[in-house]
Amino acid sequence: MPELPEVETVVRGLRKRLSRRKFSGVEVCREVCLRGSGRALADWLRKKEILAVERRGKNVILSLSGGGALFVHLGMSGRLRLLPRNAPREKHTHLVFSFLNQGDQLRFIDPRRFGRVFWEGGKKGKWVSLSHLGPEPLEISPLEFVRRVRSRRREIKPFLLDQHFLAGVGNIYADESLHRAGIHPRRKSDSLAGRTLSRLHRVLQEVLSEAIRAGGTSVRSYVDSTGAVGAFQHGLRVYGREGEPCQTCGRAIVRERVGGRSSFYCPRCQRGPSKKRS
Ligand SMILES: [Zn+2]
Repeated sequence: MPELPEVETVVRGLRKRLSRRKFSGVEVCREVCLRGSGRALADWLRKKEILAVERRGKNVILSLSGGGALFVHLGMSGRLRLLPRNAPREKHTHLVFSFLNQGDQLRFIDPRRFGRVFWEGGKKGKWVSLSHLGPEPLEISPLEFVRRVRSRRREIKPFLLDQHFLAGVGNIYADESLHRAGIHPRRKSDSLAGRTLSRLHRVLQEVLSEAIRAGGTSVRSYVDSTGAVGAFQHGLRVYGREGEPCQTCGRAIVRERVGGRSSFYCPRCQRGPSKKRS
C-alpha cells in the first residue's frame, strides 16, 4: 500500500506538470471509487484551475481555484498517471481527467479498488475530509511525539498505523522504524521511556526521508506518476524479510500478526513486552 513516501513521490512528480492547468472534464468509467456521483464531480470540476499539488498523510491533494480541493487516496494499488490522450487505456482505469488546451490526461487506475477520490469546496487547509488526520510525522516535534505516544496505552505498532495519531505511516515504515529504534511491535506505548521514544521519532523521520529520496518502496504494484518504480525495497531491513538474518545481530527475522497486520521484527534487537527494556 502506498504510504507517505510513495504518495510524496507521486505528488512531487505531478506538481510541476499539473500546476496552473484547468480541468475541462472527467470521464467516469467506474463510479465506485468516487465519494459522490460522477456527474456531480464533472459539474463541480469544470474550468477549475489547479493551484497546487500537495500531500497530507497518504492523500494527494489538488488545491483548486475557488478554495476547493480534489483528494485522491491511492488505497492498496491506486495509481495516478499523466498520459497522452491517445495512449492505450490500461485495464482498471476508473477515471480520466482532461484539461483545457492540453493533449494529455490524468488517469486514475486501481486494480484492487480500495482507492478513493473525493472533493470538497471551502477554505484551503480547513477541509473536513482530512480533519481526522493526526500530525505529519516529518513535522511533529520530538516532544510532541513523545507526549502523544505516552498519552494512551496501546500496542506501539498499531498506534503508529492509526491515522488519527499520526498521518501517513503504514505497515512498511512502522516495521522499519521500530526495528531501527529497537522496539518490539507489541510494546505498550505508555511503557516506553522518553529517550526510547525520542529515538523512535528520530529514526521514523530518518526512514521516511530515506524512502522519499529513493522514490518510495515498490512492493507489489507501486509506481510513481511516470510509471517508474521506487528503490527503497533494497533499503528494507525487516519488512518482507522473514527468515533472513537481522542486519544488526544475525538472528532470523520473524513475522507475526500484531493488531491484525503482518509484522516483521528481530526477536533479539526488539525484545518483547514481558522483558524489561527501554
Ligand atoms: Zn537483530
